[in-house]
Amino acid sequence: MIPKLFTFKGGVKPASHKDESADKPIRIAPLPSHLIIPLRQSARAMARCLVQPGRAVLKGEVIAAAEGPLCTAVHAPTSGTVRAIEPQPVPHPSGLPAPSIIIEPDGKDRWIERKAFDYRAATAQKTRDYLRDCGIVGLGGAGFPSHVKLGPGEKGIGTLILNGAECEPWITCDDRLMRERAEMVLAGAAIMRRVTGASRILVGIEDNKPQAIESMRTAVEKLGESAMEVIAIPTRYPAGGEKQLIRVLTGIEIPYGKLGTHFGVQCFNVGSAHAVFRAVAHGEPLVSRILTLSGNMAKPGNFEVLIGTPIRELLPLAEPRADTDRYLMGGPMMGVALQSLDIPVVKGTNCILAGSPTLFPPPPPEMPCIRCGECAKVCPAELQPFELYWFSRAKIFGKTQEYSLFDCIECGCCSYVCPSRIPLVDYFRFAKGEIWAREKEKAAADVARQRYELRLAREEREKEEKAAKLAAKTAAGREKAAATLAVAEKPAATPEDEAKKALIAAALERAKAQKEQVHPGNVSNLTPEQEAEVAAIEVRRTEIREMAKPHLRQDD
Ligand code: SF4
Ligand code: SF4
Repeated sequence: MIPKLFTFKGGVKPASHKDESADKPIRIAPLPSHLIIPLRQSARAMARCLVQPGRAVLKGEVIAAAEGPLCTAVHAPTSGTVRAIEPQPVPHPSGLPAPSIIIEPDGKDRWIERKAFDYRAATAQKTRDYLRDCGIVGLGGAGFPSHVKLGPGEKGIGTLILNGAECEPWITCDDRLMRERAEMVLAGAAIMRRVTGASRILVGIEDNKPQAIESMRTAVEKLGESAMEVIAIPTRYPAGGEKQLIRVLTGIEIPYGKLGTHFGVQCFNVGSAHAVFRAVAHGEPLVSRILTLSGNMAKPGNFEVLIGTPIRELLPLAEPRADTDRYLMGGPMMGVALQSLDIPVVKGTNCILAGSPTLFPPPPPEMPCIRCGECAKVCPAELQPFELYWFSRAKIFGKTQEYSLFDCIECGCCSYVCPSRIPLVDYFRFAKGEIWAREKEKAAADVARQRYELRLAREEREKEEKAAKLAAKTAAGREKAAATLAVAEKPAATPEDEAKKALIAAALERAKAQKEQVHPGNVSNLTPEQEAEVAAIEVRRTEIREMAKPHLRQDD
């Protein structure tokens, strides 16, 4: 039965230029003189380096560990010695260097011990962790970690789509992969199906690849897979865009800001399925990929290349022509101009395209927008590219976001049809880059502000605690001083005082007795206080006499 297909809005039909390389079987590229392996191999995170210069490594050995949920491990693509860990130019529009591990091959290409992974006995989570540790990311170009995409999603995954559309002109690496290794690709898809719990697999291939379609259908029959279907879809760029392919195969329209997983659909490139198969069945982490060398080259073709191979060492395999004046990484619609030939092949590198003044003439000067609306007609994301262009150009980035800039898949259809030759995609990439940079700055400023506020709060708390401690100490001191004072005001009678009191009392008694003897019956006319005073004086005189005794003469 012929499956019902749907159409997506917009799109263009550029010359495909597939014939230049599609008939060339995959060749293994030779070992380069050195390999440059960026620590950031997946799109969203940087791995933690595990090696130092001078360390010998085996092919497939982990040289950087996955850190964080969006990170994947990085492996040595061949055996050799780590020569340096330093910033190197990497494939990025900014051309900025990024931390990389440089390996000098020993020429032996010796593997680590490889063991198959029993995914049937493992839980889905264990298999996802294993794929993360094998460095598996999407090989369609975006480089998104596969273990994340293989998660259950909000609604679970019912349909798994294998993307074999390869809609961009000139690129034929997926075509060759499906022709030559169809069973491996489908076996990888079956592993993905088990991990996601999907009930069916749809393989979408543009109808300009009849051999690949045939090969994949034969493999499905051979594997006896009833829940796998290989579907030829009309050739129309960008049929290989995720939302466009989902629309064509299932009829589901994914709205702005939503993903396929919100509708129970997940999409993987055929190269990613192949990498999953090799990791699980052979214990081989992702250390190489297939890419197309084409454009202004005498011997275009498809090559299996080690990750980290410098582009400069790869180009002689396809013999660029003498008038080549530039290179693109990717196809002519979505590719990025290479700033340097010293940058390495990374996991998302699907094509190196050589350009010349005749093959890709320099674009004519940009003219003002004439508001013809042609760009909006071909936009598969149903955006208004001319509005996005105005806001991007005027740097009104808030408005670009209001007009769904981030739904732009950078397919280049709008630039392709613009009669004013405005490089619209360049404006959109610039706006996205600025917004990301500002968000990063804002996030950093927010973190700094939070830290500052926390520090202020801590200092305030410490001040209060100090003041409370001081107050408590002062109160305790006051209480102690008061107690000391009270004791000082009421001194306890010492034995000397008691003896003195007894002496005074005795003196008083003696004085009384003397008075009685001299004036019997006479009563003293002194008050008791005066009598006590007299007695005290008497005691004092006695004391003085006692003290003076040693100094007095015998006759005194
Ligand atoms: S196609 Fe070009 S000229 Fe026409 S509206 Fe779009 S941006 Fe303007
Ligand atoms: S590059 Fe963006 S705006 Fe232009 S057609 Fe493609 S999706 Fe639309």
